[in-house]
Amino acid sequence: AKFVEFKQVSHTYITEQGTPVPALNDVNFSIDKHQFVAVVGPSGCGKSTLLRLLSGLIPASEGLVNVYGHAVTEPREDVGIVFQKPTLLPWLSILDNVLFPLKHKYNFVSVKDKKRAIGLIEMVGLGDFLGQKPEELSGGMQQRIGIARALLLDPDILIMDEPFSALDALSREEMGFELQRIWQEKPKTVLFITHSISEAVLLADKVLIMSHRPGTIAQELDIDLARP
Ligand code: ADP
Ligand code: ADP
Repeated sequence: AKFVEFKQVSHTYITEQGTPVPALNDVNFSIDKHQFVAVVGPSGCGKSTLLRLLSGLIPASEGLVNVYGHAVTEPREDVGIVFQKPTLLPWLSILDNVLFPLKHKYNFVSVKDKKRAIGLIEMVGLGDFLGQKPEELSGGMQQRIGIARALLLDPDILIMDEPFSALDALSREEMGFELQRIWQEKPKTVLFITHSISEAVLLADKVLIMSHRPGTIAQELDIDLARP
């Protein structure tokens, strides 16, 4: 079943001076439910633009972006995003940062929610830092907290924009395996943006290789991973 579909999607930004900047040209691909898709390509090829279109942050200038057969027309609640730079709120503790999406949505946090948040923070290896402020954590640690936060609402679709870019090689590998474990326990539809082709091949079922000016999908690779 096609879960996410991009049909003949093109996107052109218009700068404040009114200059058009073509970012994507005739992009076509689909993602099955619970498929893990990685997008690789050089800087400026439109990877972040894909992310913004799928999450409904911006509308495509042309073509169709569908989730579950419905056009994406506004920011979606069932999409969790892990940004390249973690955007934690500096005045909140780590625990409250992870709980923030829930608090924001329901204006209420139950004991069960709190336990779940703590479980997610432990999962990313930072159980000892619940009460600390973001500034007391390194960039890589903050990124892990961003991942825990994105998982709190248990989104159907998880979009990750170079989530490991601030991590050292060892943590990168660890987080990669961690992500696979989470994915196996509770499959999600994942769009994972990365510069690293090896990371893409290691983690994904399918790899979209993009080329630029304006961005197109140059190649689609099916990775035949015998997952349990
Ligand atoms: P990346 O690290 O993903 O390559 P960029 O350096 O291309 O990021 O862009 C950083 C930010 O600047 C993004 O939020 C993007 O939307 C914005 N941006 C990139 N190019 C332009 C541009 N020509 N005009 C206005 N904003 C831009
Ligand atoms: P990537 O994430 O692969 O680095 P982006 O999607 O950020 O690529 O950008 C694709 C193209 O669109 C680039 O040429 C970039 O400069 C341009 N771009 C991105 N964001 C903006 C923006 N807000 N305004 C104008 N141009 C932009």
